[in-house]
Amino acid sequence: MLKSDEIKKLRKAGIIARRSLHKAKEVCGEGVSYLEVAEEAEKVIFDHGAKPAFPMNISVNSVGAHYTPIENDDKVFKKGDLVKLDIGCHVDGYIADNALTIEIGTSRHTSLIKAAEEALAVAIKTIRPGIRTKDIGKNIENMIESRGFKPISNLTGHELKRHVLHAGTSIPNVSKGWTKIKKGMVLAIEPFATDGGGKVKEDQPGDIYKLEHKRNLKREDLEFYEWIENKYGTLPFAARWCEDYGDGHEKLLRRLRRFGSAMNYPVLVEKKQGLVSQSEHTVIVTSKGCKVTTKS
Ligand code: MN
Ligand code: MN
Repeated sequence: MLKSDEIKKLRKAGIIARRSLHKAKEVCGEGVSYLEVAEEAEKVIFDHGAKPAFPMNISVNSVGAHYTPIENDDKVFKKGDLVKLDIGCHVDGYIADNALTIEIGTSRHTSLIKAAEEALAVAIKTIRPGIRTKDIGKNIENMIESRGFKPISNLTGHELKRHVLHAGTSIPNVSKGWTKIKKGMVLAIEPFATDGGGKVKEDQPGDIYKLEHKRNLKREDLEFYEWIENKYGTLPFAARWCEDYGDGHEKLLRRLRRFGSAMNYPVLVEKKQGLVSQSEHTVIVTSKGCKVTTKS
């Protein structure tokens, strides 16, 4: 069960995560660089005394998730781009994770964006102790299909625990899973809708990493590992966040990967190149339903 100071920290993280997401939305526009958006949004997190829970994901068009800008990224938004902005932060390890979808300068994809938003709304209404994850997934699936789209079946929401972004229970976007929802669980609910096939596949390596074991590392590698561990814990981080370590951080990161001491998240792309929308909130399960922590 959550204590009141834990709930306070979860709520604080929620408010900051939402502010940061809104900042990203505000900065987005035709000709604006992905990197500027990520840096501005991540700055909001630090300015409020929180820390990022993962590098901001900026996933455009048929990219479903796990693209974050690289150092000196020269990608800019183009008119008509369908953009998923996904950002999370933590206060003392208590995480909030949220996302929304916008399009740049057009309004051609309103129905696809709405499908994910409405699926999220119905999922939030469904959540209460005793229901099963498949009940949430079924409602998400039904809502998205009723709008003429498909849910992405191999992307899921997830339980959040202190310092752990993907902990235990997955929250599917289709009718799957018998795990019972319990009071006090913290859940990130994130429906994805597409006009494609309904699945993502792994594409090229992205710029998001996560630390693994530190067995058998030589001094130079261990120092770098521990520098990352000290700054970002075991939460996902970006190579561009290691710039402060100085020259050579890219080479060191490659070495950590080679030794199995860091893993890389590949960029996830819709299998049939369909467009993808996403909407996400973090909720705390209460005795009768749930409370959204990431509401503006
Ligand atoms: Mn997210
Ligand atoms: Mn999430």
